[in-house]
Amino acid sequence: MRMVMDGGQVDDLFGRIGAFLAEHRLSPEPAHYSFAYLVLSDPEGPLAQAVTSITDGGIRLSRMDIEAMGGEAVAGAPVAFDAVVRSSAAITATPDPTADGLIARTQMQVEGFVDTMRTMQVEATGFGRDLAESAAAMRRAGPAAGIDEIARLTGAMIARVHSAEVRLANATREADDLRIALDEARGSARQDPLTGLPNRRAFDETFDALPVGTPVTIAICDIDHFKRVNDVFGHTVGDRVLKAIGQTLAEACEGHLVTRYGGEEFALLFENGDCAAVAEFLDVALRAVAARRFRSRDTNELIGSVTVSAGLASGVAGAPKVDLITRADAALYRAKADGRDRVVCAPDVGV
Ligand code: GH3
Ligand code: MG
Ligand code: MG
Repeated sequence: MRMVMDGGQVDDLFGRIGAFLAEHRLSPEPAHYSFAYLVLSDPEGPLAQAVTSITDGGIRLSRMDIEAMGGEAVAGAPVAFDAVVRSSAAITATPDPTADGLIARTQMQVEGFVDTMRTMQVEATGFGRDLAESAAAMRRAGPAAGIDEIARLTGAMIARVHSAEVRLANATREADDLRIALDEARGSARQDPLTGLPNRRAFDETFDALPVGTPVTIAICDIDHFKRVNDVFGHTVGDRVLKAIGQTLAEACEGHLVTRYGGEEFALLFENGDCAAVAEFLDVALRAVAARRFRSRDTNELIGSVTVSAGLASGVAGAPKVDLITRADAALYRAKADGRDRVVCAPDVGV
């Protein structure tokens, strides 16, 4: 607290925190105070910007807003829900539930944690100064210092050490939680929720991380006449078929990256520049898909077989990925035109 009362700038921050709590009808609980502190101490930071986007137009923060931004709304504290009239702008600005939103919120938490660590550092410096002062006081008092005085100073120091230990333990736990949350957010940002397969971002990142010059073949696989499955059996059944095909491809191509690239398309990555060899391998996977007989779970109606076409292109990592994708897409187009349910390799590019 002493730190807060020093220096005009910090006093001003203290005043602004008070005004912020009043404006949003937040009680001065430590949790609300520290949320306001994080918002106001870094006015250009992501947390402050998130608050501005939600509260633009004089709208108060709700309990949900605070919690979505990594803060803690204290139960029973007078957070205003009643008088909050949300504009449509505020609704679109509410943090989105997708993985990207999760990452952004976790990022804010990390920044809050960094602030906590900075505060602790300042306090540790103050603690060091206090210790030095105590030592000097004992030295000044010399042999005349009563045992009571020494015991009092030592007791005060022990209390400070204990409080620092508690804070450090909390900060460490907070760091562990953040690491777990960040890992989860990272994982879900790279995973397709319907099929459970890695998604396009995972494909792009894996490809981009390959050492330059690594021979590669990419395959774009597209479900044949999938629109018909949706039209005849409904979108939910379509979803299940999509998932089952993704799983069949992943099992048949174990050891290689199989991703859902978007819609009813899968992108596969092979660290092998021999297109014909990869085509032969992938054809076995396509046979496994074609051999399945799908049946609607709800009506037991036979859907029959659903096939997949694939376009392949070989090259090396480090060359523009877009060229490889374009060539694989062109090969896929040929596979469709040639009758579907087949693998086609793009012609080699001249060097
Ligand atoms: P083609 O053999 O030429 O690829 O024919 P197609 O019917 O598969 O191709 P088209 O591009 O005409 O239609 C693709 C369909 O895939 C339409 C779209 O609704 C469906 N689709 C894409 N993503 C999903 C999804 O996540 N779930 C479901 N159920 N359908 C999807
Ligand atoms: Mg398609
Ligand atoms: Mg298709």
